[in-house]
Amino acid sequence: MNRQRLDIAIVGAGMVGLAQAALLAVRHPQLQIAVLEASTEAPQVSDTHHDPRVVALTGASRALLEEVGVWEQIGARACPYTEMRVWDAEGTGSVCFNSRDVQLPDLGHIVENNVVVSALRACLEALPHVELVTGFRLESWWRDCGLWHLQPRSDRVNVIEGLEENSEILRTRLLIGADGARSRVRDLLHIRCRDTDYHQTALVCVAECEKPHQHTARQRFLKSGPLAFLPLAGLGDDRHCAVVWSADETLARELVMLDDQAFALNLEKAFESRLGNIISVSERFSFPLRARHAESYYGPGAVLIGDAAHSIHPLAGQGVNLGLQDVQVLSEEIARALKRGLDPADTSVLARYQRRRRGDNAATLKAMSTFKSLFGAGDLHWRWLRNTGLSMVDASPLLKKRIILRAMAV
Ligand SMILES: Cc1cc2nc3c(=O)[nH]c(=O)nc-3n(C[C@H](O)[C@H](O)[C@H](O)COP(=O)(O)OP(=O)(O)OC[C@H]3O[C@@H](n4cnc5c(N)ncnc54)[C@H](O)[C@@H]3O)c2cc1C
Repeated sequence: MNRQRLDIAIVGAGMVGLAQAALLAVRHPQLQIAVLEASTEAPQVSDTHHDPRVVALTGASRALLEEVGVWEQIGARACPYTEMRVWDAEGTGSVCFNSRDVQLPDLGHIVENNVVVSALRACLEALPHVELVTGFRLESWWRDCGLWHLQPRSDRVNVIEGLEENSEILRTRLLIGADGARSRVRDLLHIRCRDTDYHQTALVCVAECEKPHQHTARQRFLKSGPLAFLPLAGLGDDRHCAVVWSADETLARELVMLDDQAFALNLEKAFESRLGNIISVSERFSFPLRARHAESYYGPGAVLIGDAAHSIHPLAGQGVNLGLQDVQVLSEEIARALKRGLDPADTSVLARYQRRRRGDNAATLKAMSTFKSLFGAGDLHWRWLRNTGLSMVDASPLLKKRIILRAMAV
């Protein structure tokens, strides 16, 4: 691998950056690709406990992971869910989506983040012209003669494997920013971002429940935010769920301070004991929730994908699915450029990618913000409206089918 003249450098080895590298490498084995990752830690998949950070993957996301050959490895730890139940804590409105409504075997799969990341990393190791460079935190850059010169942070603790101190600069024609919600690439491109603070924090953990989850994803909308129990697979029982509790900041701070037993009791009460007693809870992690949308997805020779371009409230579990759709569309545009003898870093190529993705992502962001406001509103009119809305959707098979197919992006 000639790190001084790469075709494509991808900054960020999260699910989206790794998937982008894998898809491009599988479809275009001639391209020289490097993935630059700030962290030096490899994700660990445990045989005895689940990673509390999970994603609900749609059929379209699964198809992408199948194409790059990692689904088989992920499979045993992916929990298919056949039903999704959503209900309002302040009223009687509820809706139940079932995979039978759309004649499909499931509505999607719940998978631990570290399982997906490990599988994608293993996939890259087996591909000849793609390399993962860890310990490379992109700090600065300059561009001349159509080449980006990328420089890592100089106070880094770990010496990058295989790179001499004074030859750390990597050079590439196309730069893809997949470096998450606080993207350095986006900053270096001077791309502004629309930023909405939800004043909520998502607490995530794994709960062992008394009753089996029955392959059902459940979400209760409380006034302080949605609480989701997502079914998990792979450790020999069906009583473990990933919990995502999005709560207003004050409540979240109180919940974080509780000991495990008190937290489990609060959780059980907030969830109306729908899965019986909470037997145990794992370590808790918290994530402040903000919606961000980059005003542009590209600059000269550089493009943003995944959370670097857009990040949304987790209430509909769409974040990484939108990112993987970016991956699919950018790969299609790069393929189209290569077929026509165009440089994939050409502005016209990146502008086409933006045209195909930005409107779609903006619509999803808007829908999530509307849901969040609707379910956070406490007055009688809004309560009546959302409870009536949920019941109306539940009573209309056609509407349910359209919502499911839209959410599954199939
Ligand atoms: C509580 C919660 C629940 C969620 N649930 C769901 C769900 O059910 N379904 C769903 O689809 N989505 C969900 N999401 C969203 C999903 O987790 C994100 O959309 C997804 O992880 C984004 O992936 P990414 O690869 O774009 O970014 P990230 O996962 O943030 O990865 C970015 C990577 O870039 C690296 N990096 C950062 N800066 C630099 C730099 N300067 N140089 C080099 N490397 C750098 C980071 O170390 C990191 O590895 C949830 C999010 C939260 C917070």
